[in-house]
Amino acid sequence: MKKIQMVDLQGQYQKIKKTVDTSIEEILNSSAYINGPYVHAFQTDLEKYLGVKHVIPCANGTDALQIAMMGLGLEQGDEVITADFTFAATVEVIGLLKLTPVLVDVEPDTFNIDIEALKKAITPKTKAIVPVHLFGQCANMEAVLEIAKEHNLFVIEDNAQAIGADYTFSNGTKKKAGTMGNVGTTSFFPSKNLGCYGDGGAIFTNDDELAHTLRGMVNHGMYKRYYHDVVGVNSRLDSIQAAVLKAKLPLLDAYCDARRKAAAYYSDAFVDNKNIITPKISDFTTHVFHQYTLQITNGKRDELHQHLLDNGIPNAIYYPVPLHKQKAYTDDRYKEEDFRVTNKLINTVLSLPMHTELDKEQLEFITKTINNFIK
Ligand SMILES: *Cc1c(COP(=O)(O)O)cnc(C)c1O
Repeated sequence: MKKIQMVDLQGQYQKIKKTVDTSIEEILNSSAYINGPYVHAFQTDLEKYLGVKHVIPCANGTDALQIAMMGLGLEQGDEVITADFTFAATVEVIGLLKLTPVLVDVEPDTFNIDIEALKKAITPKTKAIVPVHLFGQCANMEAVLEIAKEHNLFVIEDNAQAIGADYTFSNGTKKKAGTMGNVGTTSFFPSKNLGCYGDGGAIFTNDDELAHTLRGMVNHGMYKRYYHDVVGVNSRLDSIQAAVLKAKLPLLDAYCDARRKAAAYYSDAFVDNKNIITPKISDFTTHVFHQYTLQITNGKRDELHQHLLDNGIPNAIYYPVPLHKQKAYTDDRYKEEDFRVTNKLINTVLSLPMHTELDKEQLEFITKTINNFIK
């Protein structure tokens, strides 16, 4: 059996090596390292794929979130609501911009923002909601957008984990994850579903004026060379990363299918195990399984974590601490009873190996090892 990896980037690279190597060599010879033709070509390809008017490439997914918030003109003291159960980047940029993060609980079965908790958190100071499409499926965007409309709030989708997922509204309209709010952001970190070979990110919007603002902001607030109209940042996607992404984008749907296939194998194998809850997929979204995350309900999560490691099966706990309990983000306003779900999830969740290169032998070994240990 091939060695099992949490993410197999090498195996995936070998299958596209020729295309990637050729374009990287071309870039090395061209000297167009930043903002070269590949960046623009990838931007156009991604706009087409997502069905969105504007893609603004930038240096990473954290910058994408920060620049999106800057572009919307959010100001010190504005409250921004997001989920308590996510990667810290989401709340980090809210803090960096001196906005006020308001963390709310998530749903127990999808791990995405809880709509009732979101409604309860709205105050006259609320200016934006950041739904995170966690682990690869969309949050309940129809509800989020309705609340945003009612209270005149911006919606910034953190789509670092769900690029390629499709959302279906109750009237039948379909949209790609990240293109439903005022603005969407993503990360091309190597282990993300569409990953490059370094850091990368992008911002999506259908708003022409906002797109113009953002394009200058990523480049020192310049709209004309050496004229700085707004305070910006230096956050650019380099040509080599763009070339890797351009090669991988046509394969993204096949990558998502490969992940879904592995996820289906896992879920089938655990269907009769009463101590394991498999991921639930909401009916309004497809799931692209950035992570395949189980809940181990018999109190043996940590033992299983170690047992799998001892058997050469990598696995991870995403996330071990809810954001409201992180030293950097604690706040007297938070009450523990408002975080019943995240406080429980941190003790039950376990993410299994998930990537495009898992084979049947590996999946069989992983699921058998788990079912023999958790009965
Ligand atoms: C990865 C990730 C980010 C940050 O992306 P980087 O490219 O690593 O800066 C933001 N939000 C979520 C939910 C993520 O998973």
